[in-house]
Amino acid sequence: MRNNHVVKLKPGREKSLRRRHPWIFSGAVASVESQPEPGATARVVTQSGEFLALAAYSPSSQIRLRVWSFNEEPGIDAAFIHGRIARSVMMRRQLGLLEDGGACRLVFGESDGLPGVIVDRYDRHLVCQFLSAAAEYWRDTVISALGELLSPLSIAERSEASARLKEGLQARRGLLRGSTPDAPVEFFAGGLRQLIDLGEGQKTGCYLDQNINRLRVAAYASGANVLDAYSYSGGFSIAALLHKAASATLIDSSADALNMAERQARLNGVADRCRYANANVPEELRRLRDSGQQFDLIVLDPPKFVSSAQQLKSGCRGYKDINMLALQLLHPGGVLATFSCSGHVSSDLFQKVVAGAAVDVKRDVQIIERLTQPADHPVALQFPEAEYLKGLILRCID
Ligand code: SAH
Repeated sequence: MRNNHVVKLKPGREKSLRRRHPWIFSGAVASVESQPEPGATARVVTQSGEFLALAAYSPSSQIRLRVWSFNEEPGIDAAFIHGRIARSVMMRRQLGLLEDGGACRLVFGESDGLPGVIVDRYDRHLVCQFLSAAAEYWRDTVISALGELLSPLSIAERSEASARLKEGLQARRGLLRGSTPDAPVEFFAGGLRQLIDLGEGQKTGCYLDQNINRLRVAAYASGANVLDAYSYSGGFSIAALLHKAASATLIDSSADALNMAERQARLNGVADRCRYANANVPEELRRLRDSGQQFDLIVLDPPKFVSSAQQLKSGCRGYKDINMLALQLLHPGGVLATFSCSGHVSSDLFQKVVAGAAVDVKRDVQIIERLTQPADHPVALQFPEAEYLKGLILRCID
């Protein structure tokens, strides 16, 4: 299929494309022929007209084009998009993640060859995010492919991430297909029964990326008094309690999250061992420390502290601060599971920040495990930006 939108790159700016990186920044573009509408496909060529890629055009984003394919044929059409969705679904099926009653990420954007498209499955219900002009352009095709391949009871949209604004798109949410039950939908993942509220207008979403890590951390839980900082709906606590933890204290600034945690704790039969603190984590950790409390297992799973390169320094200070507090709250021999979901913070840097925290509070600490994102959040080798989640399980030896 020929395409009459042609984007020519500046001399030398094709290097990253030759390494198959899927983003082209605005500064690399020399000229745009027959202005494509947002999300439409353009042929990207070198200064001398040599074909490089077929990519979706996004006039308002710094990421001006996102590559669909490094091959000129067969071209980008509904069949192509359908094929990419089918491939993503098939890979999750091969991982054993499509079992009844389970949940997983079905599509993870660039790494699955679908820039800006995110799809999560909660049993028979799907939740999509369309976060780029490319994703928005093919939205109906994506939705109908998902309908055909999975016959879900509902497909909902939660396109609310800030990435959309950078693409010149407004936030949007709503039910796209089928109907959602009034009650939360139950699914089983990460070793526990979980709930998701799919109803419109209510807080929703689950952190599927931590499901395997919840089980890894729970392996250290037997007999432990657990502190779960940034608990959200309590996944780490409940997994730990199911692995014979003595108690769990959940801290979160969102009352809705803690209400959901309480419901999930009841569903899993562990509610009697949970305590809740609706509080700001750094303040609550300081209060606990100053009142002389100690814990055997602490989880620190904060929201993204670093969303841009400019926030790197202040974000790292934030990570260091909470890790210092957590280390001070650990019994000798205690275990800290500490995470960062900021893509801008590399695992090396994260380790350095945590090491700095241990030095400052004078604790001797070992790394006993390194954690990352699971197989349904793959990282395309030529797209390291997809790697965002990192965690360290540490033991305080003194
Ligand atoms: N550990 C959770 C996911 C954490 S997401 C899980 O396993 O599912 C981050 C959580 O941090 C959110 O629930 C958010 O409400 C909470 N949060 C963000 N800033 C906070 C703060 N300063 N103090 C307490 N909680 C905060």
